[in-house]
Amino acid sequence: MPEQKRDYYEVLGVSKGASEDELKKAYRKLAKKYHPDMNPGDKEAEAKFKEVNEAYEILSDKEKRAKYDQFGHAGVDPNFGAGGFGGGFDMGDIDLGDIFGSFFGGGFGGFGGQQQRANAPQRGESLRANLTITFEEAAFGCEKEIELTRTEPCDDCHGSGCQPGTTAETCPDCRGSGVVRIQRGGGGFAFSTSAPCSRCRGTGKIIHSPCKSCGGTGNVRKKKRLTITIPAGIDDGQAVSLRGQGNAGKNGGPAGDLIVGVRVKPHPQFQRDGTTVLYEQPISFYQAAMGADLEIPTIDGKVKYTLPAGTQTGTTFRLRGKGIPELRGRGRGDQYVTVKVQVPTALTAEQKEALHAFGAAMGEAPAESGVKSFFDKRKRKK
Ligand SMILES: [Zn+2]
Ligand SMILES: [Zn+2]
Repeated sequence: MPEQKRDYYEVLGVSKGASEDELKKAYRKLAKKYHPDMNPGDKEAEAKFKEVNEAYEILSDKEKRAKYDQFGHAGVDPNFGAGGFGGGFDMGDIDLGDIFGSFFGGGFGGFGGQQQRANAPQRGESLRANLTITFEEAAFGCEKEIELTRTEPCDDCHGSGCQPGTTAETCPDCRGSGVVRIQRGGGGFAFSTSAPCSRCRGTGKIIHSPCKSCGGTGNVRKKKRLTITIPAGIDDGQAVSLRGQGNAGKNGGPAGDLIVGVRVKPHPQFQRDGTTVLYEQPISFYQAAMGADLEIPTIDGKVKYTLPAGTQTGTTFRLRGKGIPELRGRGRGDQYVTVKVQVPTALTAEQKEALHAFGAAMGEAPAESGVKSFFDKRKRKK
């Protein structure tokens, strides 16, 4: 599986419906906590800092947030080509004055207390999968099966991690909280901080006989086949998000999501621009000049179109409603057909003669020796 990103709301510790103010507050608090200047040399803090900034960059932008809400990470991930987020991390984007202004004013209140406890319910990681579909499948929607490996609660111990018939002991050191308080400093500066309990590694419990099926973790990796419904109108680079189909959560937390990035194979005849289908119809010079009844391929099959006499090459006409259905909407786009006159090559003697006659009738001067002899012959016959 490729790198798994945490949910942006989870990263900032806010709900999906969080207001702009709430987002900003959460961001400031975390940016302060993980800022490299406050954690020199701490790689983990640096990674968190980047994660927090990325989450805020997306969620603070109305458009990006809407995309993220609809499509998850894939909606704002440049690798999926859906546009929006430029990618990468840029220190220049962070207003240090803004962060530290409130930090130094507000004292050290933000430190230490907010540590995530190892026994707190944790949402499972979201998983990503890729799916390649045809042009028509994208236009009309389809159902596809995919196979993935994800963690699920262990059937044998129902997620407890204990061998059936046994139970876990509540850790005596932390009394099940997973956190212990440690006294630091001295003199006038004595204070206590909390740290993960080392005896239970922050889980709050001690498993004496771990479940043999899951090794005491409570979760097992399983192969799973899932049927994915791809909505009509999906475009290359978009994604479908399946709530709760990712990895199992921890300590009773909900499962993550499954995000399926969709690639659409190019079509040999059609191109697509949003809901518009673009198509190039070759026609002969004769058809262009005299008009013709054409059969134009569309994603619904062939449709008749009467080409008017005297149509120039490069002329585009529209077939209403023959384009791509709107994603999660009702309407359909149009198909634009551009006619391209094909100039004949490898002409037979008879065809050449007919064209010479045509050229002469149009008052065009003969251009090559063969033409001359043709006219000479005619003159002689007279
Ligand atoms: Zn403990
Ligand atoms: Zn188990």
